[in-house]
Amino acid sequence: MVFEKLGLSEPIRDAVRELGYTKPTPVQNKVIPLVLEGKDVMATAQTGTGKTAAYALPLLHILNKKTQKSTTSKVVRALILVPTRELASQVGASVQAYGKNVPLSSAAIYGGVKFTPQAKKLDKGIDILIATPGRLLEHVKLGNVDLSRVEIVVFDEADRILDMGFWDEVQTLLGLFPKKRQTLLFSVGLSKSVKRLSEVSLKKPVTVAI
Ligand code: AMP
Repeated sequence: MVFEKLGLSEPIRDAVRELGYTKPTPVQNKVIPLVLEGKDVMATAQTGTGKTAAYALPLLHILNKKTQKSTTSKVVRALILVPTRELASQVGASVQAYGKNVPLSSAAIYGGVKFTPQAKKLDKGIDILIATPGRLLEHVKLGNVDLSRVEIVVFDEADRILDMGFWDEVQTLLGLFPKKRQTLLFSVGLSKSVKRLSEVSLKKPVTVAI
């Protein structure tokens, strides 16, 4: 398979080419077309398999196609939940690189740093927000962010999110998202709690195992 056949628009394919990716990885081959079809996806894949691009590329494509950009104050259009600040900044950098040719905004927010600069970014509205659950919920409580219009939600390393004890935060966040949305769940393993999360967050998901 080649990137040209997956259905991604040219600006996104160009960015991928400039990064030196010559062909999609197995998880990208399977997941990208499903996300572009609007399906909920439950994928088990190790880190290092190219899972970030598997969700980030179609997410950028979808948001860029819809005319509405996030100019509304505090509104987030796509949310990527990650377990740690390290993964948040890593995914943030990848989203920037993959989205360099499309006019979409992104930001990564996580704990251990000041609230004010993050609140300022959220205030303008963000197309793609990458966040750890704890810090995101703190911003919700402060009234800094509006999750009621999220179109796509991604759980990255869902097993680690739950292992780190974020179940309550995740439950609260799920209650803030609109019912009509697309949800993608990536996990290394399939623990009981990941299965439970998939049951409460995904609608008729397609399962992908790499
Ligand atoms: P990830 O599993 O998302 O952490 O990606 C692991 C590494 O693979 C990262 O350094 C990516 O830049 C790289 N990568 C992702 N997709 C591809 C691809 N299709 N071809 C070559 N490298 C890739």
